[in-house]
Amino acid sequence: KAKYLTKITEINKLFIEDVINEGDIAIDATMGNGYDTKYLAEKVGENGFVYSFDIQEEALKSTKKRLEKEGLLDRVSLILDGHENIDNYVKDGVSVVLFNLGYLPRADHNVITKPDTTIKAIKSSLKLLKPHGIISIAIYTGHEGGMEEKNEVYEFVQNLDQNEFNVLESKFVNQINNPPQLILIEKKKEY
Ligand code: SAM
Repeated sequence: KAKYLTKITEINKLFIEDVINEGDIAIDATMGNGYDTKYLAEKVGENGFVYSFDIQEEALKSTKKRLEKEGLLDRVSLILDGHENIDNYVKDGVSVVLFNLGYLPRADHNVITKPDTTIKAIKSSLKLLKPHGIISIAIYTGHEGGMEEKNEVYEFVQNLDQNEFNVLESKFVNQINNPPQLILIEKKKEY
């Protein structure tokens, strides 16, 4: 659990901690090195399940290693495909979908999440969410294309119907150099 307000991915856990429970289904839309996938796998327990997506082989390799070490691999599906195709893999109601946008640290910084596919994946995730489930989106603007993606994501989430979704923004207001920001979307009930 986060002790200090420093890392956006840790701050995120303060919000989703009680939303994801034993036996739940969760999605990591941007697997990367698997830190978030591991967190989700621990939270859903042995009766739950996590679907984790990335388009880079090395993300799957690194995440597989991490999960194997912790004995968590059996409750996770590591999917080498874009999150824009989530619909092809997940049919059940999910309690949490995590997006950690941008590039994979220590890998090719040219492979980044892109506005069109990100928004398609968010749209699919909204449908897959259980009532009171949450989509969390960590957004970075320091890299080329990051600001454009942030603007498009904001444009989309700002227009979600408030009767159906609560949309919250968290950001550092005293940091220079493009601090990350977090968007949380809660589905209010089934429509
Ligand atoms: N959450 C990860 C972790 O815990 O290590 C870090 C994620 S990293 C910031 C973003 C990841 O999104 C990269 O690994 C990149 O390959 C991946 N990505 C880019 N486009 C994607 C897409 N269309 N679908 C799924 N993943 C994508």
